Amino acid sequence: MDSGEPVQTCREFAFDATRHQSQLRIIATSDLHHHILPFDYLTGRADASVGLAAAAVRIRALRGKVRNALLFDNGDFLQGTPLSDTVAARAADDGRIHPFIAAMNAAGYDAGTLGNHEFNFGLDFLLRSLRGAAFPIVCCNVARVDGGPLCPPFVVLDRRIVMADGAHEPIRIGVIGFAPPQISQWDSVTLGGAVVTTEIVAAARRHLPALRAAGADLVVALCHSGFGPAEPAPAMENAAVSLAALGGIDAVLAGHTHQVFPGQGPWDPAVDPENGTICGVPAVMPGANGSHLGVIDLHLDRSASGWAVTGHCVCLDGPGDADPPRAVIRTDPAISRMGTALHAQVVREQRQTVGQTAQAIHSHFARLRADRSLQLVADAQCAAARPIIAALGLGHLPVLSAVAPFNCGGQTGRQGAVSIPPGPISRRNLDELYPFPNGLSILRLRMAAVADWLERSASQFRTLRADDPDQPLFDPDFPPYCADTLFGLDYRIDPTLPPRFSAAGDVIARSNRRVGPELIAGLPADPAQEVIVLTNSFRASGGGGYHAAKAGRILHSTTEPLRDLIAAHLGRGTIEMAAPAAGWSFAPAPGVTAVFDAAGAAAAHLDQLPDRRLSVAGRPAPGTVRLRLHL
Ligand code: MN
Ligand code: MG
Repeated sequence: MDSGEPVQTCREFAFDATRHQSQLRIIATSDLHHHILPFDYLTGRADASVGLAAAAVRIRALRGKVRNALLFDNGDFLQGTPLSDTVAARAADDGRIHPFIAAMNAAGYDAGTLGNHEFNFGLDFLLRSLRGAAFPIVCCNVARVDGGPLCPPFVVLDRRIVMADGAHEPIRIGVIGFAPPQISQWDSVTLGGAVVTTEIVAAARRHLPALRAAGADLVVALCHSGFGPAEPAPAMENAAVSLAALGGIDAVLAGHTHQVFPGQGPWDPAVDPENGTICGVPAVMPGANGSHLGVIDLHLDRSASGWAVTGHCVCLDGPGDADPPRAVIRTDPAISRMGTALHAQVVREQRQTVGQTAQAIHSHFARLRADRSLQLVADAQCAAARPIIAALGLGHLPVLSAVAPFNCGGQTGRQGAVSIPPGPISRRNLDELYPFPNGLSILRLRMAAVADWLERSASQFRTLRADDPDQPLFDPDFPPYCADTLFGLDYRIDPTLPPRFSAAGDVIARSNRRVGPELIAGLPADPAQEVIVLTNSFRASGGGGYHAAKAGRILHSTTEPLRDLIAAHLGRGTIEMAAPAAGWSFAPAPGVTAVFDAAGAAAAHLDQLPDRRLSVAGRPAPGTVRLRLHL
């Protein structure tokens, strides 16, 4: 980033000369997703808001302004760019330190924790990668089934605090890590039952007293989990607020949902964005990919009875200008070096042509209809599954292909979209279409479960009213990667009716129905009718709140990434997708309108929604357009 960019730091503390006082700055990264260089591999362009090498320059500035600072990472670092998949595909053990771990070593982390994506490439790969870390990585609620070591639940860091008067005092900082307990389910195909998880709050109840007993003066929770509600519930994915509610924690680093905090919610009432606290505990969420750094400054008092936190200030350090000329993006040379060779290899591979498309493929409206960006993936799933289904002797069953848009706006603040013009399709285009390393899963289930599957997807929309023309269309907590379209069915969704599921996937009311049986055409409505559903390994295990998927039986799973199956489907030939299969449409709701934000380029395609009108409602931020959908 530009060196002239002002760093938004916390206010300076005042110190009482009659007391023994100081401060401690906690700097947090989260969800770096294997971004080393300031480069967006989905667009193929430099981006100052991305990567540890650029963030490290800002980290150094933040450290330089205070007496005492610690740097923590909150998980999801081993997966997320084509670099990560290239490293994972290497020979079993070449003895080299994982390049992202090497970059983190160079950044000088004091400790880190595991995110769910650390488990994407299997347990052996994770264990091998962790061995290279020069800093402790802790996690208290994931364990190996075989009893072997994964990582310690917590660590106590012995440090010296420089006091306001220049004296040095020893301090013991307890660092404990938490990950979403769904890990064992989401990566069940790759993990094969090798790890067990405990719920976050239950694990905290067990380990926090032990951490205090181990002599920790302060406790920092590295919580790879979003905020969620204060009230604990079973199997919480986002449990940071209910963790803070337990007490006994001095700072919470949250993440996983790729949100930023302090920032706009909606949040639970226990969240205070003005003071940067959850249940009164200082907390941050630093976005994703290095977009933001979380900063928690603690005001400390040292007395005969020990250390006490007597004040705090929480803020975010943002990237500033997201799109400066590449020459002005400053990076840390030692960290950049860890990514340079891989970067060159990946960019070279991304340029390879894997096929041709006769029509433009974009995903601006992939949540409003079955578009070509989804159809290409659905068709590739069908092509890969057909011989497997035939070999299983199940060729008589109807086949449905479920696809969600992965690159279609999102929770990161980045309004990305697939954008492939007519002509050659490159490997980078496949990364745009399918950034995750999931394989294909083939499920056998009944139409009753399919109906529930459709209701889960239909819950992405808010309940729309005729008297609110600028109501948001989407539930802001429902991520695009949970918005499945089922190819092979023709159905209508009525978002003026209440949803069956909350954004988190909990049942609101089983009787709530936005996709009525009369709205599904093309298949017998008999709930007992068996069908085959093609999806990814994450969804097949119920990921994204799709309990319906768990009602089925997984007939087959591939470890080959779906991205490679798309390349095989293209087979270097030309695909024609003149008119995407009807798929689904909104039930007519005359007079009802709702708005959503899309990448700015979407405004050039407003005539492409065949049965609904779209109009521009505003431009809320650079590169973003707000569109009004007329239902
Ligand atoms: Mn993440
Ligand atoms: Mg995560």
